[in-house]
Amino acid sequence: MANRGEIAVRVMRTCREMGIKTVAVFSDADRTSMHVRYSDEAVHIGPPLSSDSYLNIDKIIEAAKQTNADAIHPGYGFLSENAEFSDRCKKEGITFIGPSADSISQMGDKITARKTIIKAGVPVVPGTMDPIEKEEDAVTKINEIGLPVMIKASAGGGGKGMRLVNAEKEIIPSIRAAKSEAKAAFGNDAVYIEKYISSPHHIEFQVLADKFGNVIHLFERECSVQRRHQKVIEETPSPLMTPEVRNEMGNHAVAVAKAAKYEGAGTIEFIVDDNLNYYFLEMNTRLQVEHPITERVVGIDLVKEQINIANGLELTYKQEDLSQNGHAIECRIYAEDPDNNFIPSPGKILHITEPLGFGVRHDGYVYEGYEIPHYYDPLISKLIVWGKTREEAIARMRRSLFSYKITGVKTSIKFLERIMSVPDFVDGNYNTHFIEKNRKILNQGDKCKGDCKAMAIIAAFVDYEQKLSKVAPKSDNQNSNSSWKLNNRRKNMVRF
Ligand code: ADP
Ligand code: ADP
Ligand code: MG
Repeated sequence: MANRGEIAVRVMRTCREMGIKTVAVFSDADRTSMHVRYSDEAVHIGPPLSSDSYLNIDKIIEAAKQTNADAIHPGYGFLSENAEFSDRCKKEGITFIGPSADSISQMGDKITARKTIIKAGVPVVPGTMDPIEKEEDAVTKINEIGLPVMIKASAGGGGKGMRLVNAEKEIIPSIRAAKSEAKAAFGNDAVYIEKYISSPHHIEFQVLADKFGNVIHLFERECSVQRRHQKVIEETPSPLMTPEVRNEMGNHAVAVAKAAKYEGAGTIEFIVDDNLNYYFLEMNTRLQVEHPITERVVGIDLVKEQINIANGLELTYKQEDLSQNGHAIECRIYAEDPDNNFIPSPGKILHITEPLGFGVRHDGYVYEGYEIPHYYDPLISKLIVWGKTREEAIARMRRSLFSYKITGVKTSIKFLERIMSVPDFVDGNYNTHFIEKNRKILNQGDKCKGDCKAMAIIAAFVDYEQKLSKVAPKSDNQNSNSSWKLNNRRKNMVRF
């Protein structure tokens, strides 16, 4: 398992079910990490910096050889979308649980991917098909496409190397900023131009492809609740989707995977406008952070499928066997301070009470006394809930976040809890501007400095359970004390 944190544990859980022994790798910062404890064996691979450990191909290959590992699962992030790593595994005779180096290079580079996709007959965001060479040419092109536009790094990922341009005077500074950010993050400063899709929704499709050319899609995930182009909450089905568009986008997603000669689990991301016009955004050639919501609604363990595909087995599902059952939502729980511009808050977990109960899945890796290192992404866990309907899933997420307690580090739990009661979210009426649009009511916690009416609605929801148990209702019947809780509940009860 060439990764750490929650995803390493999540993958190893499936391995254990399948009777596959696991080997963890760990840096100095991760000696006491859950993935090391969970695995059958563990190999130390170096100092904390990712470049010296989790991103060091030689060290990972050495660990695999030393333990006679048959296969490597890369998780997400780190080496998961590294073509050289996929190729190196192949050369060393180790199965890479993921696509070939060719598929990764073709899809990992956004400009190359756009060219492939157009050939497959799938709509891409209007824009340039080659890297920007001269700044003056970019200005001409942008005037043709029309503002606003996005300047995007061809090698981009994780929301990096991207700039929104609203005015002509911002063009050149934005190109320079995107290029230098891309150079620093990806060692490649190629950038291109995309028309900015106004009122954008991020909707992606999960695909599975085996070595025999069979490709299926597992429907969509709505990922428009974003901060700085990074996903915060995901849900499936998308509140925006219609059965016709779902079918058409699903077929296009399958066409993209076929065009890339794809093998394994992958995700086709689309940007969609309010009128359900959709455009290919990029393909992620790996397991996605938000994969559990698809697993829950479609009923398929994606990691098990990845392993079976890598093992040369044929897919056992046909497209017509699959359907979406109910509704799932995921919240990403980070060690960060939402009241202080989301600065990471690594440190020791003093206490943790995880949410439990029907329809709740908690994919995490921390425990009491564990110290979250400051070297890596401060994701603590992913909270996934399922409900028969979207309303039920939201209510279940609310009560799960309510009962999720962590002390020792700051977390995004309260912020997420507030989102669950923001009218735009509850109504399923949101796009990628959601957090910015509702910034005042989301950021100010209990202090009502912003939109007091909206704050009041949120406070009513967030305090719902506390109120049920702590506040006695105003009742003129003094004798109703014994049944006040019940009466109050009945008044507030919602039927799904
Ligand atoms: P997802 O849709 O799975 O959430 P993200 O783009 O958010 O995809 O990436 C998942 C994780 O991988 C994040 O922790 C992110 O920081 C990391 N990541 C994404 N792209 C890269 C990259 N090119 N290099 C290093 N890490 C990356
Ligand atoms: P990354 O590789 O960093 O994930 P993406 O190309 O997937 O980059 O874009 C990340 C997010 O940025 C999208 O989910 C969307 O919110 C926003 N975005 C990207 N391109 C556009 C565009 N052309 N118009 C509007 N929003 C965009
Ligand atoms: Mg993306």
